[in-house]
Amino acid sequence: MASKIVVNNYGSFDVTMVKGKGSTCYDINGKKYIDFLAGIAVNCLGHNFKPLVKAISKQAKKQIHVCNYFVSDIGVQYATELLGRTGFDAVYFGNSGAEGNEAAIKLARKYGYLNGGEKRRVIYTLESSFHGRTLATLTATGQDKFHPACFAPYVDCFKTIKANDWEAIKTAFDDTTAALLIECVQGEGGVNIVDAEWAKAAADAARKAGAIVMADEVQTGFGRTGTLLASEQLGFEPEVVSFAKGAAGGVPFGGILIRGKAADVFKAGDHQSTFGGNPLACAAGLVVLNELTKPGFLESVSEKGEYMRKAIAGFGAKCVGEIRGKGLMIGVDMIEPVNAVEVEKKLLAKGLLTSTAGKNTLRIVPPLNISYKEIDEGLSILKDVLLSE
Ligand SMILES: *Cc1c(COP(=O)(O)O)cnc(C)c1O
Repeated sequence: MASKIVVNNYGSFDVTMVKGKGSTCYDINGKKYIDFLAGIAVNCLGHNFKPLVKAISKQAKKQIHVCNYFVSDIGVQYATELLGRTGFDAVYFGNSGAEGNEAAIKLARKYGYLNGGEKRRVIYTLESSFHGRTLATLTATGQDKFHPACFAPYVDCFKTIKANDWEAIKTAFDDTTAALLIECVQGEGGVNIVDAEWAKAAADAARKAGAIVMADEVQTGFGRTGTLLASEQLGFEPEVVSFAKGAAGGVPFGGILIRGKAADVFKAGDHQSTFGGNPLACAAGLVVLNELTKPGFLESVSEKGEYMRKAIAGFGAKCVGEIRGKGLMIGVDMIEPVNAVEVEKKLLAKGLLTSTAGKNTLRIVPPLNISYKEIDEGLSILKDVLLSE
């Protein structure tokens, strides 16, 4: 099977997906699945979304790739729209979440160097955070299980603090701190929401020590939590924001938004990517941005999220613990001995796509334009499985 051909890094289920429409997918045997996963918060406009397909096809006919010796018209158009709608000063385009964070890390290191020399090197991240699978972003990830001995040595000068720990921020930051990187809603960590008051206080303390503040919004951006960026809701105004997953509705994309004193750190030659700013991705990104900023769209994301959380709480299932979330990023704690991975497998068998996160949490991140009909269909499968546990 697939695992014999592709490196078996993923432990993939033995399901071969072939197509989708809206928030419904079909496998090679024609079996139907309601999509509460969206390719891990990526397919934000669902499957076969006509304007997205049209824009990608149109761009493919014009030019698929340009390379950064030149600028592309669609790249300029997308960047202009993105900066206009988010209020940032500049954008760097890469191709994935890890690459976005890698760019943020390099920017922070250079910022520290320019504002404190060799000693201002340390980048703080949060415990339970996830920042990617490259060596630097793995090191930045605040979970020991991602740091096995086989990949050592890791990258120097990363430290972690605990989210919502008021004592820690009194003393953590000093003239060796280059940046604080906050994952606003910890997706992989179990859908843990960072407290807004704490995030603001932590950002103030880091800035007072001369550091910049960055947000990893790879999973939360754009629109997933009911605002374009989750950091808008937390209010700590990061100088750098990484984005990826849903940004281009399924086309690989990522990068960082930059503003204020972080805006002019990168100079020609500091950081580059061959595919960065790929025209197909920019054309797709533009469609996503236009859909998300249509009147009422982001409000509907919040409303659907609330509707789903309420419905799940209303099942009265004994195995359900805390239900957390913002917008359509939802975590449902399973109470042991019920195991989230086993529940995920049962849901898959019954035709509902979900994922797991953290210690024992079922994670629900459907397309942002999922219909209430599909939500109800998915919830009914979820109810059956959770009540049978
Ligand atoms: C998924 C994710 C990443 C890594 O993104 P890739 O595209 O897999 O490299 C980084 N940070 C967060 C918060 C993520 O959810």
